[in-house]
Amino acid sequence: MINNGNSPVTEIKGVGPKTAEYLDKLNIKTLEDLLRHFPRNYLVFGGLKNISELKEGEIAAVRVRVDSVGNIRRVKNSMSILPIEASDDTGSVTIKYFNMPFMAKTVRCGGYYVFRGLIKRQGSGFSMVQPRKYAYDEYNELSGRFQSVYPLTKGLKNAQIVKAVQEALKKADFSDDYLPESIRSEYDLPVLRDAYRMIHMPDNSAEAESARRRFAFDELFFFIICLRKNKDLLEGSPNTCPMVESAEVSRFIEKLPFSLTRGQKKACTDLMSDMTGNTVMNRLIQGDVGSGKTIVAILGLLNAAANGYQGAFMAPTEVLAAQHYKTISDMTVKYDLPFKPVLLTGSVSAAGKRKVYEEISSGEANLIIGTHALIQDKVSYKNLGLVVTDEQHRFGVRQRETLAEKGIGPHILVMSATPIPRTLAIVLYGDLHVSTIKDMPEGRSPIKSCVVDESFRPSANKFIKDEIAKGHQIYIICPMVEETDPEDEDPELKNVVDYSAKLKETLGERYRISYLHGRMKGTDKEQILDEFARGNIDILISTTVIEVGINVPNATVMMIENSERFGLSQLHQLRGRVGRGSDQGYAIFMTSKKDPKTAERLGILAKTSDGFEIASYDLKTRGPGELFGVRQSGDFSFRTADIFSDSDLLTKASEYADDILKKDKRLKNEENRLIRLEAENYGKNNLDFRTI
Ligand code: ADP
Ligand code: MG
Repeated sequence: MINNGNSPVTEIKGVGPKTAEYLDKLNIKTLEDLLRHFPRNYLVFGGLKNISELKEGEIAAVRVRVDSVGNIRRVKNSMSILPIEASDDTGSVTIKYFNMPFMAKTVRCGGYYVFRGLIKRQGSGFSMVQPRKYAYDEYNELSGRFQSVYPLTKGLKNAQIVKAVQEALKKADFSDDYLPESIRSEYDLPVLRDAYRMIHMPDNSAEAESARRRFAFDELFFFIICLRKNKDLLEGSPNTCPMVESAEVSRFIEKLPFSLTRGQKKACTDLMSDMTGNTVMNRLIQGDVGSGKTIVAILGLLNAAANGYQGAFMAPTEVLAAQHYKTISDMTVKYDLPFKPVLLTGSVSAAGKRKVYEEISSGEANLIIGTHALIQDKVSYKNLGLVVTDEQHRFGVRQRETLAEKGIGPHILVMSATPIPRTLAIVLYGDLHVSTIKDMPEGRSPIKSCVVDESFRPSANKFIKDEIAKGHQIYIICPMVEETDPEDEDPELKNVVDYSAKLKETLGERYRISYLHGRMKGTDKEQILDEFARGNIDILISTTVIEVGINVPNATVMMIENSERFGLSQLHQLRGRVGRGSDQGYAIFMTSKKDPKTAERLGILAKTSDGFEIASYDLKTRGPGELFGVRQSGDFSFRTADIFSDSDLLTKASEYADDILKKDKRLKNEENRLIRLEAENYGKNNLDFRTI
C-alpha cells in the first residue's frame, strides 16, 4: 500500500493541469493510479549495427548517411510514401515513411542519423519501414537501457509519463508493505518500494520480471482472500426459486435436430438437480469452444420459464448478446414455445429500453438476454429465477448482492471456455460446482491448422478466394485497431482499417470485405455481424472482439495475422469460430517472426485440437517475462498475473491466504490490518467481490 497514494497527480512535480487532464483520460487521478499504470512493454535499444550485419526480420539500429530524400508519392486511399536512400561503408538501405511527409524536412542529404526499426529484405538490399530516427548522441544515451512503454492517450507522450512516474516514485511513501519479510524471502519477492521502482525503471529484464511477480502475487493473493470470503457467504444458501423438471423442456429436446452429447446431457442433469434441489445453484459449465454450451444454457432458461420464472442470459459483448437473442427467438418461433424473449443492451434505443423494462417488470418477458445491463439498477424483475453468464467474468458476490437488493436470489450458472487445468480450477473456482463437457458434437472434423510466414501469402489469398467461391466465409484477425503507435517495437503490426483497404486492393472489388473492432459503436458492430451471419459479407476483418462465442457455421477459414502476439489458448479460442458446422474448418496462423521458438510454440496448435492440452502446454512452456507481450484471454483478467505461467505463484498465494484466514478468519487481528485494508480495496475495484 502506498500511504500517500490518494494524493492527486497534480501534486506531483512537473504535472500541470494539462497533463493531469490527459492522465485523467487514462483514469489516472492519484499518485497510486499513476504508479499502478504499468508499462505495457519495454524497449531495449541494442548497439548499432553495420548494414552488412543486418538480418531480415530483426529490429535493429543503423548509423547511416542520407544519400537522397525521394519525392513523396501519393497512392490510393490517400496514403503517401516518402522514400529515403541511406548507406554506410558496408551497404545501403531504403527507408520508407507512410503518411509521414513531414519526415522529409527532418533529414538532410549528407547528414548522419540513427534509424531503428524492423529490417526487411528489398531486392538484394534491405529496407526499413517507419523507423524511429535519432541523433547519434541521443541514441548512445539510450543504448543498452530499458525504456518503459506506457499505454497512452492522444496528446500524451510516453516521455511525459516517464517523467511523472520518476517524480511519483520519489514522492511515494512505501513504508507499509503488507507482505512480511519472512514470506518475501520464502517466495523470493521484492519489497514494495523496489517492486514499484523495478517495474517502471528496470535495469534489466530480471528486475522487470521480479517486480511483475511481486505484483502478480499480490493480485492473486487478494483475489483468493476475496474468493474464500465469497465461498463462506454462498455455502448453503436456501433455494428460494424451487423448480420442477418441466415436460416442456423434454419435448423441446426431443424436437432438436441433433441429439445431445454425453457431456451436454450430464451438464443438463446437474443443472436440473441443482434447480430442483434444496440449495441455490452456483454452477460452472466448462467446455471447449464448440462443445455446445449454449444449448445447455437455453435448456436451463426454458426450464425456468416453464416454471413461471424469468431467466436472464448475460453475455460479455453486445454482439454476442444479439446473437444469443436471435438464436433464442428463432427457437421460440420454430418450436412454438410459449415464452417471450427480449434483448437488452446498451445500444437499444431509449424508447426501446423503456418498453423492455416494462415487459420485464410486468413479467411479460420471461427470457431476457443482454449484457451487464441486465443486472443494473434500472431493471426490475417480476420473478427472476436463473441468471446464466456466458464466456464471462465470474459471477460474484457483488452482483449477487445487487440482485438481493431487488429481493431476489436466483440460481447462477456460469459458462466458460477457458481451459484450465484441474489444479488451477480448484483454486480459481473454489466457490462453484463444476460440470465439464469433454466431448464434441458428432460429425465435427478437427480444424486443419497451419503456421506460416509471409512467403505463404499468395497461397493464402488463393485459398481464401477458393473457399469464397464455394460459398463460404472468412475471418481475418489483426491485433490492432488504428495507426500503430510509433513507439511500438513492431511498426508492421497489422490493423483492421488499413488492412481492409489493402486487402480490397489485392483481392479485387468483387469481394465483400468489412471490418469490426472494439471501438466501434455497438449498433454498428451488431449490424456488421448480422450482415456476416446472413452471408452478405465474404471476409470479416476484426480485432479479437470476435473471439468470444460468435457462431456463424458457414465461416470456414480463420486467418490470424501476427499470431505470435497472442497466447496459445486465445488462438485456440479464435480458431474455434470456424468448423462449427458440417464443413471442414481451416485456421491459418500467419507470423512475421522467423525464430524457431515461436514456430515451436505455435506448432502445438497444428498438432492438437484439445483446448485443455493446449492450456497445459502453455502452462509448461511459457517462460516468465513474456507476459507484457502475450495476453491470455478468458475469464480471469488479472493485470499482471497469468494463471498459466504464474501457477506457482497462484499456489503460493493460495497457501499464504489459507494460512492467514485459518488463524484470523475475519482479518480482525491487528497484525492483519494492512491485509484487510488492501483486501477491501481489491473488493472495491473488482465487481466480483464485495468489500470485506
Ligand atoms: P460453445 O460451447 O463454443 O458456446 P455453441 O453452443 O455455440 O458452442 O455450439 C456450437 C455449434 O454446435 C452451434 O452451431 C450449435 O448449434 C451446435 N451444436 C450444439 N450441440 C450440438 C450437438 N449435440 N450436435 C450437433 N451440433 C450441436
Ligand atoms: Mg459459446
